Amino acid sequence: MKRYAIAAALIFPVLMAYAQPKQQPAPKIKNIIFMVGDGMGTTQIYAGLTANKGSLNLERFRCIGFSRTNSASDYMTESAAGATAFSIGQKTYNGAIGVDSAGNPQPTILEIAKQHGLSTGIVVTTDITDATPATFAAHQKTRDMQAEIAADYIKSEVDVLIGAGREHFDQRKDGRNLLTEFSGKGYQIKHTTDDIVQVKQGKLIGLVKEERVAGRGDQLARTTNAALQLLRQNRKGFFLVVEGSKIDDGGHANDLQYVTEEVIDFDKAIKAALDFADKDGETLVIVTADHETGGLTIAEGDLKTGKISGKFSTDDHTGVMVPVFAYGPGAEAFMGIYHNNTIFRKFMQALKF
Ligand code: MG
Ligand code: ZN
Repeated sequence: MKRYAIAAALIFPVLMAYAQPKQQPAPKIKNIIFMVGDGMGTTQIYAGLTANKGSLNLERFRCIGFSRTNSASDYMTESAAGATAFSIGQKTYNGAIGVDSAGNPQPTILEIAKQHGLSTGIVVTTDITDATPATFAAHQKTRDMQAEIAADYIKSEVDVLIGAGREHFDQRKDGRNLLTEFSGKGYQIKHTTDDIVQVKQGKLIGLVKEERVAGRGDQLARTTNAALQLLRQNRKGFFLVVEGSKIDDGGHANDLQYVTEEVIDFDKAIKAALDFADKDGETLVIVTADHETGGLTIAEGDLKTGKISGKFSTDDHTGVMVPVFAYGPGAEAFMGIYHNNTIFRKFMQALKF
């Protein structure tokens, strides 16, 4: 007996060591890059992939889910309710900007991130006062209130703001010049992509012309990179929102070439985000859409030549689920089928807020 007991005493800890491999510490998530392709459903993505001759950076993602996009008021959402679901974690009525179904302002994920000491940024290819970006920093009853939304940005203290719509800041009916006010708060103000990418530190508002890809070139990828270089300087981390804003415009126009050029352009910004995440190791990248636009179907395509033809069933949004792509630490939490507002809660959990 005694000999067995000694043997057991010797062997048992060895067995336990094998049975309980060292627990891997949960990967730390310091930064989130949240990318919204406005109106980008699975067919828009595959149309872009085809037009790009068979590949997209989106294929680098391994964790994929689906988001149910209906709003609190409608089976078919629009961009304000769609993005407010992401920003405040509640479904709300169509047209709402950072307010709940009763019209009450609710804290946005960017405001919460700021309270926790993170830096924040918004980079888009349409007016910065347009619905999608506005929901992260403004609180207004309807998306038409662009002058009020621009004024909300002064209070929001988002560190990096890049988009179009300068007229809402310095050609206002109320006589305020918000660019002067931004300057007074220490923001650098730039009006071209070339000038934006020269900024190496501090706060920045970049207000450029609104143009299609032919006019603006690699603006979205370059300004996304510029925002990342500024925001990464905060050791506590950052939350950056990037929007491929005009995929939706192509859908409303039932213009397939417009859609594919915008998807390919957005995919270049996705590459910038994924390359940053690869080097950083503590960055979670999420790509999704607020809704699909146009009811697009692909009729014919050629992966070698990039030729593609398709049909739109509507010039409005549709109610279909949209994909959610997640990359980096914590990406698994974004697998499955869930409502759009759940994405807010996943962000809160990822950042341990
Ligand atoms: Mg939008
Ligand atoms: Zn739309």
